[in-house]
Amino acid sequence: MLTVGIPRALSYYRYFPFFKTMLEGLGTKVVLSKPTGKRLVEDGVRYCVDDICVPVKLYYGHVLELKDIVDRLFLTRLVSVEKCDSDTYTCPKLIGLPDMIRSSIEGLPPIIEFVVDIQNRSIHSSARRLGEMLDTPPALTRKALSRAIDVQARYEGKLLGGLTPEDAMSAAFSGNGSSGGVRAGSGDGPAPGLNVALVGHEYLLHDHFISHNLPSRLSRLGSCVTYMTEVPPDVIEAELARYPEISWSYEKELLGSASYFLHREDIDGVMLVMCFACGPDSIVGEIIEREVRTESSPPLMTLVLDEHAGQAGVATRVEAFVDLIRRSRRKS
Ligand code: SF4
Repeated sequence: MLTVGIPRALSYYRYFPFFKTMLEGLGTKVVLSKPTGKRLVEDGVRYCVDDICVPVKLYYGHVLELKDIVDRLFLTRLVSVEKCDSDTYTCPKLIGLPDMIRSSIEGLPPIIEFVVDIQNRSIHSSARRLGEMLDTPPALTRKALSRAIDVQARYEGKLLGGLTPEDAMSAAFSGNGSSGGVRAGSGDGPAPGLNVALVGHEYLLHDHFISHNLPSRLSRLGSCVTYMTEVPPDVIEAELARYPEISWSYEKELLGSASYFLHREDIDGVMLVMCFACGPDSIVGEIIEREVRTESSPPLMTLVLDEHAGQAGVATRVEAFVDLIRRSRRKS
């Protein structure tokens, strides 16, 4: 059976249930790269240009991990991910990712490029193209697509219900209708007394190696974690009406959910997790700091991560933030 490698980075966190179900429905075997580790990061950094964000470096590392063990490599070109009246895009790196990979890594297996460009082409046409690349009959492609859409919808429902991507994927693949899985804050740590909202790209927050297990760390300190993936799209849209229009879809999600959390009374603190060398993040981070946060907002902390961020430094900052929240709660 033809093996197709999917890098466990970037679009994996948003669309893996769709991609896996689709590819398996087309008769291939999906091989997922291993979770990020030290060697993988070093490899990614070595092949990537210096001044690029760490999630793209990780993507390189995951591609290198797969390149000699699969028949085909599945790469995504995320151009636009929402249908709306104004022009919206992802970011230039996500749009040019397959070209960057092709031009800097030699000896790659044949590439299956999957384009997500919701503003200009339907997901059906991208799926049709995928079926043609794999020489599958149109009827089989249609069947695989219909199943992939269902599994993806289940996955997104689980994220909205508060699960992490890992737990939401398990539940979506098993067809489990219950909320299932474990939320940060429900583990072995002290009983959660604080509610901390985490705002940041899922490919950063949920890569345990690069985020230094941030959600579990907060959980161990007695915080229940609320993820931005729990904020429904219509709520984000309503929040965005207060701010200048921006065209990057993923940054809109950051801005809208940060605004929502910073105005909610049951949130004790908001942690904004950003990528070093990410232009869109730095602009939206400034808007959140200057325009969204008010005197009455809960404490806000910005944590910038890259491949050099040490575990001890992250731990100290997180502990200090949780202390600050506890102190500010005692005063109010
Ligand atoms: S949005 Fe930022 S972090 Fe994400 S890929 Fe683009 S530059 Fe990197």
